[in-house]
Amino acid sequence: MSKISIMLQLNGNWDSYGRFREFQVNGIVVDEDASYSLLISTIAQQLMIDTFEKIIEIKYIVNEHCPPMEIRNDMGVCVYMETKKENKNLGSYPLCIIVRDFNMELSITNENTAAGSSGTLKLLDMPTSPVIEEYESIIITDSTPSFIEVGQVYQDKQTITTAVKHYSIMHKFQFRIKRSSARSYWLICVGENCTWHFKATSINDSVMFKVRNFNSHHTCSLMDNTFIQRKPTAMVVDSMVIPKHSDPKTIYTPKDIQFDMLSEHGMNLTYMQAWREKEKALQFLRGHPVDSYYKLPSYLYTLEKTYPGSIVKLKKTDDDCFLYVFVVMCTSISGWEYCRPVVVVDETSLKSTYMGIMLTASTMDATGTKLPLAYAVVDSENNAS
Ligand SMILES: [Zn+2]
Repeated sequence: MSKISIMLQLNGNWDSYGRFREFQVNGIVVDEDASYSLLISTIAQQLMIDTFEKIIEIKYIVNEHCPPMEIRNDMGVCVYMETKKENKNLGSYPLCIIVRDFNMELSITNENTAAGSSGTLKLLDMPTSPVIEEYESIIITDSTPSFIEVGQVYQDKQTITTAVKHYSIMHKFQFRIKRSSARSYWLICVGENCTWHFKATSINDSVMFKVRNFNSHHTCSLMDNTFIQRKPTAMVVDSMVIPKHSDPKTIYTPKDIQFDMLSEHGMNLTYMQAWREKEKALQFLRGHPVDSYYKLPSYLYTLEKTYPGSIVKLKKTDDDCFLYVFVVMCTSISGWEYCRPVVVVDETSLKSTYMGIMLTASTMDATGTKLPLAYAVVDSENNAS
């Protein structure tokens, strides 16, 4: 297959005589029988344009008596190639490239096409100066709203994605992402030929997302099957388990997760699945235990600087692992002389990943109120520690 070299003219503008002005140049080589999508992707690659974010408009001038021709589809490319073949010089029939933001209303023009395979997009004309959009509706901050409808405004993309995941759990189906970027979020049902779709885009480049298009009607027959076959676990973490663990005082065991998932969502989780979800939620909220130990030296340093006179000791093993920590606050030291000469030492086991024992020493003041004197974390109660 013979190749053809094409000059690209970019970042220019069209004057009133239909001439492209003040452009920069670049070039590509493509097959003569290239498709429209190949041409677009070659141009995008060469000019480093993110086609998820930007629209590429391609035009060329046939002759000065005729307005520029725009290439919009395979036939457009074909016509261009036939014209170009007559004069294969690099400089002949350059392609004039205009790149525009994708931040325009997108509408799905063909509701009945198989979603995901041939849904076509049509760009509505963008006003020359974008009108600032009014959003009188309430801005939704809750990621588990009771319903979803066109016109709703969500505070950010994170909220809207979690809301839709929650919605899909409640309605027992699975969706897949057709397009997702900082500005748009477009979903379709995994069911074949299903008309369910959801589309939200950002409002005037802000972080807020508005539901633009939503067809909640399914025409697929797979609803329950696809839902059961696929693991619901990741979504469960987002919408259910994390809020329950946000208060450290709440005791929420894997058994509770199993029970709630069954009663609220009709979903059967094994104990191990529930346990993993709990661990994942805890890690999401509190980070990994290793990271907490990493922070210990800087925490102790700050403690010592903030409360001068405190005694802070950190002992590590030869291979730089945590072994013991010992802390006496300066306030405990100064308070000690006003207390009864009694010291109570107690220990408690730490139940986190790395176990260990926490030792505390406290005393009582003249009124019988407890005053903590010192605390330490050790591996176990032994002579070495
Ligand atoms: Zn469906």
